[in-house]
Amino acid sequence: MTDHVVVLNAGSSSIKFAIHGLADGPAAYRGQIEAIGVAPAMKVRDAAGKTVVDEKLADVGGDHSAAARALVQVIIRLIGEGKVAAVGHRVVHGGVHYAAPVRVTEAVLEDLEKLVPLAPLHQPHNLAPIRAIAAHRPDMPQVACFDTAFHRHQAPVVQAFGLPRRYYDRGVRRYGFHGLSYEYIASCLPPEIAGGRVVVGHLGNGASLCGMHDRASVASTMGFTAVEGLVMGTRCGSVDPGVLIYLMDTEGMDARALEALVYRESGLLGVSGGLSSDMRTLRASEAPAAKEAIALFVHRIVRETGSLAAAMGGLDGMVFTAGIGENDGATRMEVMQACAWLGIAPDESRNAAGKGRITKDGSRVGAWVIPTDEERMIARHTRKVIGLT
Ligand code: ADP
Repeated sequence: MTDHVVVLNAGSSSIKFAIHGLADGPAAYRGQIEAIGVAPAMKVRDAAGKTVVDEKLADVGGDHSAAARALVQVIIRLIGEGKVAAVGHRVVHGGVHYAAPVRVTEAVLEDLEKLVPLAPLHQPHNLAPIRAIAAHRPDMPQVACFDTAFHRHQAPVVQAFGLPRRYYDRGVRRYGFHGLSYEYIASCLPPEIAGGRVVVGHLGNGASLCGMHDRASVASTMGFTAVEGLVMGTRCGSVDPGVLIYLMDTEGMDARALEALVYRESGLLGVSGGLSSDMRTLRASEAPAAKEAIALFVHRIVRETGSLAAAMGGLDGMVFTAGIGENDGATRMEVMQACAWLGIAPDESRNAAGKGRITKDGSRVGAWVIPTDEERMIARHTRKVIGLT
């Protein structure tokens, strides 16, 4: 019986995956193939967090399709053969037209391939396994779930840059990303704030904020690409575009050099003087540059929180999620203290515990830690689109 949904989140050097049943809930298994092209290895944990697979994949090398074959073998080992009812995929960009998850057809794939120039570092990797599965198992239902979709209903003024309007018409808009994470968080907001104005901070290697009202996206910090907004692990976030023109003029940088600069050499890594993009390493360091990198990370979150509160006309709640948001109590505390003017009164021991509500009982604006689960959101969408529920 086909009673499982497989979720794939394929990147340039890794494939994250989850195996879900037909009912909504945490994954039965989740894992990843890492370091494809360097030293590929697969790790899988079961629902209880127990490691059930931990292997080097010697014969995979840099080959994504060999990695995919290894993945299929492991899925068969874990749940048996012929058990997969559908595969759901994270696809970073749905462009102007895809405002909801969609069942993949040849025409959809062609549309999504046209969006590669909008997300050249992610989109091709997201689409490759869809193509591979369509070629080997044309009967397997596949669903594409977009990181941009949750933001597609923002007001036109929120999506516009101050550029000549022909660019807007050509798709140069503020799309916003991390939408699957925000949609999941929106689905499990505490009742006190679910209908209110909430700033959600998805603070991981990639980091953004989303202002949502009544569970819908009003505005977010990411724009045309996933490089705008906050300072991130290796991405710079918003910079004056004049800086990029200056670097082109004075250092002769071209598009590829600027891409490397803003996506891979900046953010916490760049500001810390090359020390690390990883918050844990920076927190453990005494180096002044590490402290400055963290201070800038926090400062940008605080400024953008104020900006989103302004866009929503007020603030009723705040949520922290993803690697840093869920685990780094110091970042949460620094942000909340700087946002005291908005009515946030952090509770030290609740914040240190890092679960559920982390503000004092009397705090006018409550803050919560809520672990995100993008794969679970994709599994929900996949079941719905295919009609499995
Ligand atoms: P990705 O965007 O790649 O999914 P994650 O959501 O896993 O990233 O977040 C990675 C970030 O979370 C890293 O900066 C890491 O240092 C940070 N992080 C993870 N665990 C902790 C922790 N216990 N304390 C502080 N930071 C943490």
